[in-house]
Order: sequence, then C-alpha cells, then structure tokens
Amino acid sequence: MLNLVLFGPPGAGKGTQAEYLIKDFDLNHVSTGDLLRSEIAAETELGLKAKAFMDNGDLVPDEVVIGMIGSKLEANKDAKGFIFDGFPRTVAQAQALDQLLTDHSTSVAAMLSLEVEKEELMKRLLNRGLTSGRSDDQDSSIIENRINNYNEKTAPLKDFYGAQSKLHSIEGQGSIEEIAKRLNDAVKSL
Ligand code: ADP
Repeated sequence: MLNLVLFGPPGAGKGTQAEYLIKDFDLNHVSTGDLLRSEIAAETELGLKAKAFMDNGDLVPDEVVIGMIGSKLEANKDAKGFIFDGFPRTVAQAQALDQLLTDHSTSVAAMLSLEVEKEELMKRLLNRGLTSGRSDDQDSSIIENRINNYNEKTAPLKDFYGAQSKLHSIEGQGSIEEIAKRLNDAVKSL
C-alpha cells in the first residue's frame, strides 16, 4: 500500500491537490474534514458532537477522528493506498495512525507538507468562504483560531515525520498545476 499524509495549514490546498494524487496514483482519499461535515449533514450523534468544535475553529477530540479513520481502513482493505488529508492533526493522532496501519501490515510512506505563507492563507480562506458555505471560512477570528491551532498542535508533526525521514516539504504557492507537478515528482521519487 502507498499511504501518504497530505499536510499543511488550513487553506494550503490539500483538498485540491488530493484530487490530482488520487488520479495519478489510484489512491483512496480520506479527508477527516469532509467525513465530519457528512456526519453533521446527516445529523448523526458523532456529527452533533463535532459541530461545536468545528464552528469555533477548534480541533475535534482525537478519539472521534481516530475512530473514523479506523472504520475507513477496515472498510477498504483492498485499497492500493490512502491519501490522508487533514489527518493526523496531533501527535496522538499520528501515533494512532501508525498503530492502525501496523495492524493492517502497512505504514506511512511519506508526509507531503504544503508550505504557504499566512497572508496568502487568510486570503484564500476568506475567498473560499464566499462560495463554500462553510461558516468556519467566513469569520477572520475563527480562521485565526484555526491557524493558531495548526501552529500549536499540528505543525509539530513535521518533527514527528521528519525524525522518521518521511517529511517532504513542497512549495504550496504558484499555479495549481505547478504544485500538482511538484507533488507528483515527490511521490515518484519515493
Ligand atoms: P481546513 O484544513 O481548511 O481547516 P478541514 O476540512 O480539514 O479544513 O477541517 C475543518 C475542521 O474540521 C477543523 O477546523 C476541525 O475542527 C475539524 N477537523 C478536521 N480534521 C480533524 C482532525 N484530524 N482532528 C481534529 N479535528 C479535525
């Protein structure tokens, strides 16, 4: 299995770039943000629990997202590999992912980290808020909170994967196609 962690701050372009990687390498896309939004739309118990955290730009508790990933792996045992988008977001999630993948006799091949400046992120997210209908994209203080949470809790994962020599930093500014090419090259060189 080829398992990739697509990493970067909110607004880095993970969802957009995941589409290219899925096609190029025939992988399953697992976006915890998308999974959580589906749970909210279906008004499940999990969705109700997650909603308040997401609306404030806070992280949903680890056990909730780890459980969702465990179910996805279990349901797709024959997949060629996975792109994890927006997961892991804490060291506890990264440790849980390692354990889950070990249980399935596989591992993380690489972390692809999209690097984008804060000013550009704010611009992209506020722009996306005009069309996405996502309330967490429409308020600059919620966006700030998401970026702060990223810096405090999520960015340290670069050290986690760096220590395993799995970190690949990719310039996340430029045209969508240019960035897709950089990611494609990085995966091919694995
Ligand atoms: P973005 O990367 O732009 O923040 P996402 O769709 O990945 O968008 O995430 C939206 C929200 O969903 C996050 O702010 C957070 O509340 C929640 N979320 C998504 N993935 C996780 C995760 N792995 N752990 C905790 N919360 C998560």
